[in-house]
Amino acid sequence: MHTIEQLNDGRAVYLNGQRINVADVPIFRKTLALNNQYYALQRTHQDVHTYIEDGQRYDIAFKVPLTSADLKQKHRAYQEIAESNNGLLGRTPDFLNSAMAALAVRSHFLGHNEYTNFAANAKHYAEHVKTEDIFISHALQNPQLDRQKAINAIPSGYAGVHVTKRTMEGITVSGAKMVNTMAPIADDLLIFNPPELLLEKGDTSYAVAFATPLNTPGVKIICRKLLDHPVYTGYTEDDFPLSNALDEIDAYIVFDEAFIPWERVFVDNDVEMSNRFFMDSGMFIHSSHQDEVRGITKLEFATTLAIRTAKLLGLDGFLGVQEKLGRLTANLELIKGTIARSEEEGRLDDFGIYTPNQQALQAVRSTLPEYYEEALKVAQHLAAGSMVGVPGFKEFNGDNGPILEQALGTSKATAKERAKFLNLVFDLTTAGFGQRQLMYEYYHGGDPMRIRSQHYAGEDLRAGNEMIDRIMKS
Ligand SMILES: Cc1cc2nc3c(=O)[nH]c(=O)nc-3n(C[C@H](O)[C@H](O)[C@H](O)COP(=O)(O)OP(=O)(O)OC[C@H]3O[C@@H](n4cnc5c(N)ncnc54)[C@H](O)[C@@H]3O)c2cc1C
Repeated sequence: MHTIEQLNDGRAVYLNGQRINVADVPIFRKTLALNNQYYALQRTHQDVHTYIEDGQRYDIAFKVPLTSADLKQKHRAYQEIAESNNGLLGRTPDFLNSAMAALAVRSHFLGHNEYTNFAANAKHYAEHVKTEDIFISHALQNPQLDRQKAINAIPSGYAGVHVTKRTMEGITVSGAKMVNTMAPIADDLLIFNPPELLLEKGDTSYAVAFATPLNTPGVKIICRKLLDHPVYTGYTEDDFPLSNALDEIDAYIVFDEAFIPWERVFVDNDVEMSNRFFMDSGMFIHSSHQDEVRGITKLEFATTLAIRTAKLLGLDGFLGVQEKLGRLTANLELIKGTIARSEEEGRLDDFGIYTPNQQALQAVRSTLPEYYEEALKVAQHLAAGSMVGVPGFKEFNGDNGPILEQALGTSKATAKERAKFLNLVFDLTTAGFGQRQLMYEYYHGGDPMRIRSQHYAGEDLRAGNEMIDRIMKS
């Protein structure tokens, strides 16, 4: 765990045209404090959040699950971490730490080259992350410059990350990755490729995977525009309860001749290994489990917000409104049930790791974004004009204060309570903060359209086929 001051470690973070110290940006400070709940819970709720291995205590995310009960314990911990940020921090440390647990066991397939042993590097790195409990972020998606072209056919050199030099000591890399959430406040950056790397003319320089500290010379973290309304604007967390409280901070990552020592390289010059890295390491499925448990929390937050909106505004007595709210709670139950099924009907993989049921988890991945959007839409449509008409909170302290207190107070809430609640609804459903959260939910686990297009091919339809065949043969 780091304090924000410790993150002024030479890392090259850029915000709106200036190189900055992360400690100078208030929303980074608040976000790190929330992210550090992951570490705090290990102390305050040790029985759920930690486990003992060879006499040492580690965070539960690092535990290699051997049974369904192990997955359920991890679920509890992921859920408590997510609840500390309302499910709005998608990339808390437990996300990739769950992946490190699998990588440590499954890295053998990565093999070696003439300079180094990639399998051992990956195993040692996963163990290093575990023993030091460092916070890693990741970037796999290559910039969306022209998706129909091979990335080495795009002349800028920034269509992915590629090796420019190889020596006895390590590799030198240049290029870019599209999005790296939490990069400004993480310790390390894990770089790899999505499983369908498109390269042409035998060029394998982009087929690489490695980890590196974020303060590595040559690494640039170029942040997107912030979504908060800082102190100088006069607005507080009463006006923007979410966007002034946290920002997960996505960044564009540039490598400019950055040196990576061999011991941190896991794939080099090998398209097949690059394509296998995410799936065959077990990182994908185990991080998906954490990711979707966190997703339940966010869906629960949005669903409850919609229901409380209806109650606050006296709309919950109408049948049409009740039907909409019932759909949301049914959606929530379906997601909870499907994740529980993924835990109960998992399987032991070839290495003895208890692995969640992939069909069930992918069903959640493809559907939760729609359920989340539906919850936002219902809350937005119910809060409607009252939400967009809320005055700035300072208005309550000015000449108009007494009028507003009288006019906007109801039997259910004082004017200020009502205003703050409606501001919360606005932040999650309508403001830039909420729209980014919606985008995150849609895309964080890959493109739902392509997840669905692959889902039906993996479904066990033996019973369905037998029924149809029986009719066809009769
Ligand atoms: C808020 C946010 C945070 C993120 N954080 C991270 C992070 O920390 N680390 C990280 O690595 N990534 C991160 N991502 C990136 C995320 O992984 C990708 O956005 C996601 O996987 C979708 O890929 P893409 O953006 O490259 O879109 P594409 O895959 O290019 O798809 C864009 C659109 O084009 C269509 N399309 C593209 N190619 C095809 C095709 N071959 N066939 C049919 N249709 C196609 C898709 O259906 C889709 O509608 C983040 C994204 C968001 C929105």
